Amino acid sequence: MSTFLQTSIEFLKGVGPQRAELLKSELGIYTFEDLLNHFPFRYVDRSQYHTIAESQYCDMAIQLKGYIIEINESGVGRKRKLTAKFQDQTGMIELIWFQGIKWILPTLKKGVEMQVYGKPKQYGPKWNMPHPEIIEFSKVKDDVGLQPVYSTTEKLTNSGLHSKGIEKLIKTLVDQLPTLNESLSKQLLVKLNLLDRTTAYKQIHQPKTEEFANRARNRFKFEELFYLQMELLVRKQISVQKTKGFIFEEVGELFNDFYKRGLPFDLTGAQKRVIKEIRKDFLKGHHMNRLLQGDVGAGKTLVALLTTLIGIGNNYQAAIIAPTEILAIQHFETIKEMLKDFPVEVALLTGSTKTKDRRELHERLLNGDIHLLIGTHALLEDSVQFNNLGIVVIDEQHRFGVAQRAKMRSKNTTPPHVLVMTATPIPRTLAMTFYGDLDVSVIDELPPGRKPITTVHKKEQNRLTVFGFIREEIEKGRQIYIVYPLIHESETLDFNNLMDGYEAISRSFPLPKYKVSMVHGKMKPEEKDFEMQRFVNGETQIMVATTVIEVGVNVPNASVMIIESAERFGLSQLHQLRGRVGRGAEKSYCILMTGDKLSKETKKRLDTMVRTNDGFEIAEVDLQLRGPGDIMGTQQSGELNLRIADLAKDSQTVVLARDEARALLADDPSVEKPENFIIRELLTKILKAKPNWGRIA
Ligand code: ADP
Ligand code: MG
Repeated sequence: MSTFLQTSIEFLKGVGPQRAELLKSELGIYTFEDLLNHFPFRYVDRSQYHTIAESQYCDMAIQLKGYIIEINESGVGRKRKLTAKFQDQTGMIELIWFQGIKWILPTLKKGVEMQVYGKPKQYGPKWNMPHPEIIEFSKVKDDVGLQPVYSTTEKLTNSGLHSKGIEKLIKTLVDQLPTLNESLSKQLLVKLNLLDRTTAYKQIHQPKTEEFANRARNRFKFEELFYLQMELLVRKQISVQKTKGFIFEEVGELFNDFYKRGLPFDLTGAQKRVIKEIRKDFLKGHHMNRLLQGDVGAGKTLVALLTTLIGIGNNYQAAIIAPTEILAIQHFETIKEMLKDFPVEVALLTGSTKTKDRRELHERLLNGDIHLLIGTHALLEDSVQFNNLGIVVIDEQHRFGVAQRAKMRSKNTTPPHVLVMTATPIPRTLAMTFYGDLDVSVIDELPPGRKPITTVHKKEQNRLTVFGFIREEIEKGRQIYIVYPLIHESETLDFNNLMDGYEAISRSFPLPKYKVSMVHGKMKPEEKDFEMQRFVNGETQIMVATTVIEVGVNVPNASVMIIESAERFGLSQLHQLRGRVGRGAEKSYCILMTGDKLSKETKKRLDTMVRTNDGFEIAEVDLQLRGPGDIMGTQQSGELNLRIADLAKDSQTVVLARDEARALLADDPSVEKPENFIIRELLTKILKAKPNWGRIA
C-alpha cells in the first residue's frame, strides 16, 4: 500500500516529466501521497447562479450564465492581456486574463451559452472579473455539487495546472485509490466518530456533500494536531526525566519573613495560586520550565521576587533579566526598596555598568556575596559567572531569543530553574502548541482597586477637545503620555512625525507652565534615561515618545495615554501601551487618534480596544485578525508547517487533540500497548525527523 502512495508523481496519468518537475519545484509534490495531501482550501457550490446586475454587490466568487459578445487580445510578454465582454439579460461584465492565455483563448466561444465562475472586482467605476473559469454551458456536468478549489502558482497555471487542472489530476488519483493503512488508532476513530483514512481522502477531494467535506477535513485536522500534541508531550516527558533540577526543600526563613513583614500589600488570589504552582515545581527534583502569563499590571514583579526569595533562602543565587535598561533599573529600584530590611544583597548589571564596577561585581558574584542579580542582556555574557545560580526569572520573555534563554540555563552545572514571564497574553491554543513543553501559569486577576481604563477613538477634527482634556488632567496634577509610531521601514518618516508632534505639543503646551519630555530610539541610553527619569520624578508633565516606552515602565501618576496614528499599531502593541496608565489610584484614559480613512481590520482593532481591557480577549481577536504566523513570528509558526489545521480557527480541535494526547499518555506513558501500535510507529518517525524546536528556555 505504501508503495502506491510513494509512487513518483510523474507516473500519474496526465502528469509526465515536465509537469512533474513543476509540481515538485512549485508545490513540493513528489509522490502520490504528496498530491493527496494537497488539500483544497475551499469548496464552491456550483449549483447556484447569479446575475451580472447582482455581481456588483458581491464580495465573493459567483457563477454566471450568458454569452460572450466580444473577445480582445492585446499587449505582448508580461503585458499580454485577454478580455471578453460577457452579457446576460441583466447587464455586461468584462472578463480578464493575464496568465494562461493560450489555454483560455480556444475555450472562448461567441454565440454559445457559457458558464462563468469568478470573483467580481471594481476598478474605478467599472466592474470586471479577473481570471474566471469559463466553460460551455452544455458541457457543465449536473452532478457537480461541491467543487474543490486548490492553491496553485503562476508557473503551474501556465502549464494548464490551474485549480481545475489540479482537480483533474487528483480525481484521477482518487479514482484508483486502494484501501490505505490507517494512521490513527481504532479507538480514536470510533470514539471521535472520525472517517477512516481512505474515505477521508476521497471525501476531502471529491465530497458528496458539504457534511462529508467537513468530516473529512475534521479528520485530517485532528490527526495533524493530535500528532503535534503527542510530539510536544512526549518531548516534554523525555526532557523532564532527563533534566535534574535543584530541590528547594523549604520555602525558607527569608521567604516567610518577607511574607510576614515585607509584602507591601496582600497578594491577590491569582498571585498566591501561581506561587503555589512554582513551589510545587521546586520540590520535584526536575528542572522547572514555567511560563507565567499575566496582563499588564497584574503584578508579576512581586511573583518574580517571591520566587527568587525561595531560591535565595535555600542558599542559591537568583537572577532577574529584563529586556531594556530602563526596565532593569526599575526592577532593581523597586526590589531593592522592598528588600531594604532583609539580608539580601541585590546588584544591578546592565550595558552601562562601568568596567571597574563590573570587575568587582563579577568577583562578588563568583564568591557568592551577591544573592540577587538584576539586569539586561549583559547578564548573558560568558564573563558573568555565578557561584551557585539556582533560579532565573526572565521578564517580557518574547523579547528574548531562544539562544539567549538557553544561555541562562548553562550558567550552572545543573540548570537553574527558569521562570519566564510575559505581559503579552498568548491565546490558549497557541500557548498549548508553541509552548507545549512548558508549564503555564496565569495571573488572571488584577490587584484590587484598579479602575478600568476608559478608551476612546478620536480623529483629527477632535484634536482641540483632546488638548483641552490634557490641560484639565495636568491641572489636576496628572501626567500624560503621547506616543508616536516607529516602524523600521520608514524610520525617517516616523522620526519626522515625532519631531513635528513634539513641536506642536511644545507650542500648544508652552513653558513655563508645561514641561515636555521626549524619548526615542535614536537617543543615547543616558539621554533616554535622563528624560525618562524627569518624567518619573514628575518634573515634566508630558512625555512624547515612540514605542520605546512600551515595555514595563511604571509611572503611577500618569493617567492619560494618547496614541497618535493608532491605525499603525497592532492590537497587542496598543494594549501594551495602554497598560502604561491605570497604574495609580486615579481614573485613567487612553485616547486613540487616527486619520479618517480606516480599513475594516483597523476598525475592528480600534473597536476591540474601546470595548475591552481584557488582554486575553484582545489576544484572541488579534489571533483571528492576524493569524498565528504574525503573532508567534513566522519562523516559529513556519516550523510548525501545518497542512490543514488552523490554530486560529480550529481552537476546539486543538483542545480536543491536546486532551486525547494527554489521556493516551496517562494510560500508556511509553505508547507501547498493542492498540496504540499505529500511533507509536508514526510518532517515532516524527520524533526522529524533526529537530527539537519547541523549547524556549
Ligand atoms: P506587571 O505584571 O505588568 O509586571 P507589576 O508587577 O509592575 O505588573 O505591578 C503593577 C503594579 O501593581 C505595581 O505598582 C505593583 O506594586 C502593584 N501590585 C502588584 N501586586 C499587587 C497586589 N497584590 N495588590 C496591590 N497592588 C499590587
Ligand atoms: Mg512587568
